[in-house]
Amino acid sequence: MDLDVDGVGQAVGTGAVPAGPRIDDLLVRAHEHAARHREGAVADYIPILADADPEAFGLCVADVEGGLHERGDTRTAFSIQSISKAFVYALLSEAFGHERVLEVVGVNNTGLAFDSVVAIELNDGHPMNPMVNAGALATTALMPGDTAQELWDAVRDGLSRFAGRALEVDHEVYRCEAATNHRNRAIAQLLESYGRIERDPLVVVDVYTRQCALRVDARDLAVMGATLADGGVNPVTGERVVSADVCRDALAVLAASGLYERSGEWLFEIGLPGKSGVAGGLVTVAPGKAGIGAYAPRLDAAGNSVRGQIATAYLSRALGLNVFASDPHVPGGKP
Ligand code: GLN
Repeated sequence: MDLDVDGVGQAVGTGAVPAGPRIDDLLVRAHEHAARHREGAVADYIPILADADPEAFGLCVADVEGGLHERGDTRTAFSIQSISKAFVYALLSEAFGHERVLEVVGVNNTGLAFDSVVAIELNDGHPMNPMVNAGALATTALMPGDTAQELWDAVRDGLSRFAGRALEVDHEVYRCEAATNHRNRAIAQLLESYGRIERDPLVVVDVYTRQCALRVDARDLAVMGATLADGGVNPVTGERVVSADVCRDALAVLAASGLYERSGEWLFEIGLPGKSGVAGGLVTVAPGKAGIGAYAPRLDAAGNSVRGQIATAYLSRALGLNVFASDPHVPGGKP
């Protein structure tokens, strides 16, 4: 996909993001720039997602000081979908520890679609990474809780702490996906057959489907991302949600596999960890600086928001967020 960044100069940034008025100005420009793009298609494999307004477009930056900068439809609610995987993974890492999640869930990209069954077969039933459906189901299955209700409470309460408010399920989305998620049920049962899931796989799919149906808006995504950018402390509520080590690990996984088989291109152009969802949400994290939340339902072929990617590419360049960009060191200070 062409991310349309040819005219956008690559700034190099260290330390904090630029002050408020500059961000607000760039946010307006990034939004305008990406709004010109009408490529892509709204997801319809979960039938209710096809009802989304294809023109809806919200963009929000939450900095680590708790400042929020918004443009467009930042208060339009949509289902979080796969973006939940990033945050459930962070919660599991907190509960389980670095070594065990590495071994049990894995961190390597499959190079295949998010709902690939072939990827499981090619890897002896190993789920590979927590951002594809197999790994996300394995992750949810390992969350603390003896009963289905306790498992769900752990997931919902944890994601709510990242957002800084109690997140609610969109029951219509949940019901629609629960009636059509045959593929995810097959994936969970396949994982069970390999001994990779120890709970009832259908309970795991049910909790996972609810987690994907949690309602958020672009501002929530920005705050959730800013919590991962801020060493695990939600910069709006001041609450510590996970440790700084867990944030570091979760961001490494997002960099490798947050945009599925397009993760390499994303990192090449944007240079930041990110995670997309099929309802059109996209969260991006600039470590130590800010979270970016975007919502625009038209998707590319891999299931990533088109306008979300273009606007984020613009902001990454203009705000100097790309973690791979540097300027030569000048002995004695700035030239
Ligand atoms: N709930 C969706 C699924 O499991 C999430 C997929 C996504 O956002 N890529 O298919």
